Amino acid sequence: MTVHVGVVGGGLAGVAAALRCADAGAAVTLWESRARLGGVAGSFRRGELDVDTGQHVVLRCCTSYLAFLDRLGVRDDVELQDRLDIPVLAPGARPARLRRSGLPAPLHLGAALARYGPMPLADRLRVLRGALALGRVDPDDPAVDARSFGDWLAAHGQRPRAVQTLWDLVGVATLNARAADASLALAATVFQLGLLTDAAAGDVGWARVPLGRLHDDAARRALVTAGVDVRTSAKVRTLTRGHDGWRIALTHAQAAHAQAGPGDPGPGGEEELVVDRIVSAVPPSVAARLLPEGALGLPAEWADRLGSSPIVDVHVVYDRRVLHHPFAAAVDSPVQWMFDRTASSGARAAHPPGAQYVAVSLSAADDLVGLPLAALRELMLPALTAVLPAAAHARVLDFFVTREPHATFRAGPGQAALRPGPVTNLPGLSVAGAWTATGWPATMEGAVRSGDAAAAAALARPVVAAGVAA
Ligand SMILES: Cc1cc2nc3c(=O)[nH]c(=O)nc-3n(C[C@H](O)[C@H](O)[C@H](O)COP(=O)(O)OP(=O)(O)OC[C@H]3O[C@@H](n4cnc5c(N)ncnc54)[C@H](O)[C@@H]3O)c2cc1C
Repeated sequence: MTVHVGVVGGGLAGVAAALRCADAGAAVTLWESRARLGGVAGSFRRGELDVDTGQHVVLRCCTSYLAFLDRLGVRDDVELQDRLDIPVLAPGARPARLRRSGLPAPLHLGAALARYGPMPLADRLRVLRGALALGRVDPDDPAVDARSFGDWLAAHGQRPRAVQTLWDLVGVATLNARAADASLALAATVFQLGLLTDAAAGDVGWARVPLGRLHDDAARRALVTAGVDVRTSAKVRTLTRGHDGWRIALTHAQAAHAQAGPGDPGPGGEEELVVDRIVSAVPPSVAARLLPEGALGLPAEWADRLGSSPIVDVHVVYDRRVLHHPFAAAVDSPVQWMFDRTASSGARAAHPPGAQYVAVSLSAADDLVGLPLAALRELMLPALTAVLPAAAHARVLDFFVTREPHATFRAGPGQAALRPGPVTNLPGLSVAGAWTATGWPATMEGAVRSGDAAAAAALARPVVAAGVAA
């Protein structure tokens, strides 16, 4: 008998889970409340520009995400550096470079660190010692997760300048938290996987096309080809376990869903269905509301306690080239990471020849997310000019901001106890999402891993019941 799996949420976790289940022979329906797939890793149209909801970066160690892109047939749309190379810009200073050598890890960054201008020489030596000690930290130890990365760095001789110009340079972008606020376990995971174990692991990659082409268009094609019934603009309102299986009540929003079939209730309609198994792949706040009480075995108020952290992206179109790298990081500046999005966004067609579209990614943006557009413009344009001197002569053709107030779960101390594994206390129900217990911070890699794990859990468990209710 074919098992019918219902996947709730069409972010990367849900898409990965749906594909796994369909590839294993299950009948799969995927419900996504928005009109598009991809969740927070998507893009939208602004005039003639394709704008990512936030700049996304991938590392070579993100093996599940890269395999997922392979499965979608779009792996070549991601550029991956041959060798980790991060230009680091600072106001009024010579650009520095964090480039790996051909030596094995952790020696591959030794030469770059030895020459790393933003940090005094004495700090460079301390950083090497700190990195070796961080490589020995056990991320699975609850006591390690209870401690802050900042506290550990201070105890290991890392002075504020090193935290600011090196540890936070990498940590804020990958953890969406400053060292002082980050779990040591998650920080150790990031640095061990990305920089301390395999020399090639930290090579940086980015999409050459808008994220929607990968996570919506290609994902939808792959899902439909695999036989998945993809229902977008379909919001699941309740999930209840009955004698005949899992009962789902959903509302169809105004936009028509992708695979409307016979009996489609149409826009604004309500529908109830019963499936054998459920993979929940929604954000924590939705899971806390949607899943039956006790399903996850987490402490009360777990979603609020896990919390979330914002990311803000500032988008600037200049009338000329001001950033002479595909991307760069900045120190001693409110600017964190900058990316040249000219080719990938279609800016060449939308703006005069020579114009450049620079996206500035601002993580751990608690202080920025609430600022009005004018205040962000006043802060960011001079800051960009300070690190990109060519901007002083450039005209700003367009300036806008995207904000994700709940971009990721908060990667703070104690997070591990609030992240459930894929198997729940209820038969036929498994959970996915970058916020679940993947061991990773909130990343595309974590989302795909969680989807794969939840699909395996869903397919491994006995069937509750079968049948479809009208
Ligand atoms: C601005 C920004 C920048 C980022 N940068 C990076 C980066 O550089 N590298 C990296 O690896 N990661 C990055 N991330 C993190 C990464 O994008 C996420 O961790 C990952 O995409 C989360 O996927 P997910 O499927 O777990 O969750 P989501 O993307 O949140 O997907 C959940 C889905 O469930 C849907 N849903 C919610 N409620 C319902 C309902 N009732 N019924 C049906 N559907 C529902 C939502 O609409 C959504 O599509 C970034 C995130 C943001 C926001």
